[in-house]
Amino acid sequence: MNADELVVNISRCRDCRLHEYRQLAVPGESPLHPNIGFIAEAPGKDEDAAGRPMVGAAGKLFTEVLRAAGVVREEVLVTNTVRCRPPRNKIANWPDAPDKCRRWTVEELSTYNPRVVVLVGASAAKLVFGKNAKMQDIRGVFRQTSPDFEYGARIWTATWHPAAALHAPDKRAIILQQMVDDIKSAKELLCEL
Ligand code: URA
Repeated sequence: MNADELVVNISRCRDCRLHEYRQLAVPGESPLHPNIGFIAEAPGKDEDAAGRPMVGAAGKLFTEVLRAAGVVREEVLVTNTVRCRPPRNKIANWPDAPDKCRRWTVEELSTYNPRVVVLVGASAAKLVFGKNAKMQDIRGVFRQTSPDFEYGARIWTATWHPAAALHAPDKRAIILQQMVDDIKSAKELLCEL
């Protein structure tokens, strides 16, 4: 599927009941063959209205983190594990949504084909590091998957979700610094590949 078809197909998706509540589906944004891909959780109110990922408060913070790590947002993949906003942002009330949306994650990764993927936050990290993975244990760790893995042969790592910094003002500075460090580690790895 080419990138244009992918965006159209995601916008029309009715695979799960979240489509009944959305204003707009939120496909990932990416050039072809970016060095890095970022997978966050799910669209919020602003993303639902704009049809674009990571444009609300958490998204703006994320874009600042990228800039601080020397990453140009337009040059990387930015997407979510779920592409429609869960009502009241309660993703936990829709446990089948990430499974239903998995095929779009697979398609986006295969169409855009990032060299390294950074999983942003615990829900995205589960895709690769298992449902019990703790962010403090897996951030900064790289995992190489093989071609028979459902998301293909890729290099993965994980970092905090920017909402963690928004929700814990006392830890904001350390969380943001760790996010910058994790993304810089991904860039350093890319230089060695
Ligand atoms: N906006 C998104 O697109 N994803 C998130 O995970 C949070 C806010």
